[in-house]
Amino acid sequence: MKARDIQYERARSLQDAVDLLHRHGPDARLIAGGQSLVPALNLRLAAPEMLVDIGALAELRGIRLVEVDGVERLRIGALTRHVDIERSALIAAHVPLLALAVKHVAHAAIRNRGTFGGSIAHADPASEFPACVLALGAMLHIAGRDGTRTVAAADFFLGLHETAIKAGEILVAVDIDPLGEGFRSGFAELARRSGDYALVGVALQGRPLPGRTLFAVVAPAFFSVGDRPLLADAAAAILMDAAVADGDRIRLAQESLAADLDPPTDPQMSGAARLHLARVLLGRVVAEVLAASQGVARG
Ligand SMILES: Cc1cc2nc3c(=O)[nH]c(=O)nc-3n(C[C@H](O)[C@H](O)[C@H](O)COP(=O)(O)OP(=O)(O)OC[C@H]3O[C@@H](n4cnc5c(N)ncnc54)[C@H](O)[C@@H]3O)c2cc1C
Repeated sequence: MKARDIQYERARSLQDAVDLLHRHGPDARLIAGGQSLVPALNLRLAAPEMLVDIGALAELRGIRLVEVDGVERLRIGALTRHVDIERSALIAAHVPLLALAVKHVAHAAIRNRGTFGGSIAHADPASEFPACVLALGAMLHIAGRDGTRTVAAADFFLGLHETAIKAGEILVAVDIDPLGEGFRSGFAELARRSGDYALVGVALQGRPLPGRTLFAVVAPAFFSVGDRPLLADAAAAILMDAAVADGDRIRLAQESLAADLDPPTDPQMSGAARLHLARVLLGRVVAEVLAASQGVARG
């Protein structure tokens, strides 16, 4: 099947893109890398009258350190491609969680065109980057006719392909705090084949305390467990609870995931099996992060 005829405009600037969206109203749809939208158009799951192509806007591309209110942040432009994340020395040094995650996003051909902002705006609950920005407490900058507003990742994902981006708005950049002293990242997913969307996955960042299974701070975010990425708050509370015996902590955190996640049953897998796999992945990632941190402490 092929897409029906669609009008097309290439935006020359961010302002031009905002104006085009405003002029064409609900009939218009942004296109960035096209790696989710084009298949949807071809399958006629989406049928906009007009495509507004932001792909050539250099102002929305790139990874750089910026200062916001005296605090250094890593700013990732919405049009930064997955492959740019994969190859970036700044990402490797300051946001290693994204460097771990990007290897699991689709295949090289898709990573060459797909964009970071497109993945986040598309908000597929099985996608890696939405869960990462949640675990990282990122801030998302969204431009519209009234200027730019900033939304915390925790308030951004509202449901299946539903986000805080309103009609006529464009995600322009994502700010992330560089990895702090003693912090570690962990990432794991299970997929049927390499490059497939995950059956279940977890992205985690935290600061383990030396010689224990205890974290001073930790944020595990799961994906492919519901209609949006989800922070496992109950499990995080146990991983940060000094009153829990070190030997029991990981098992109790795994058990507590039943309070955080209620994965649906679908043709691929039952909800119970997904919850089981989420527990397995949490145990695996926490163990890896603790081992890496002990290794550094000893070395
Ligand atoms: C075979 C295949 C396998 C894939 N596997 C994975 C996978 O394992 N994990 C994964 O995460 N992804 C996967 N993808 C999707 C891929 O990562 C996409 O690149 C990404 O989801 C969307 O980015 P894009 O730039 O291509 O967005 P587009 O396809 O251009 O747009 C997607 C949606 O986001 C909107 N949009 C795009 N940019 C913006 C913006 N800046 N502001 C507001 N709205 C915007 C568009 O209007 C559209 O609704 C796969 C895709 C394919 C075809």
